[in-house]
Amino acid sequence: MFLICSYMAANASPRAQRRAVPESPLRDFEAWLMGVDCGEPGCRRDRVYALADLARFYDGTVTVGVVLRRLRCQECGCRVTAATIQSGLQTGR
Ligand SMILES: [Zn+2]
Repeated sequence: MFLICSYMAANASPRAQRRAVPESPLRDFEAWLMGVDCGEPGCRRDRVYALADLARFYDGTVTVGVVLRRLRCQECGCRVTAATIQSGLQTGR
């Protein structure tokens, strides 16, 4: 399983954030979107979640890495094999 992060408006260096994201709590990424892919050849359903929704569903203090390990594909029930997160919602603040 791997995680790709896209940063459109980042303060810290992408390298530092890439290392920090899996250990960071969900509530730190409430304006972000996460795309997940189960990687199953017969499925390949890409799903996009708002991390704010995941933070409500799980505990907001749960880390991104823990949630990725818990997530299952809604179609085939397989584990997520790839994930991409990006700052999809621009707050303008
Ligand atoms: Zn699937």
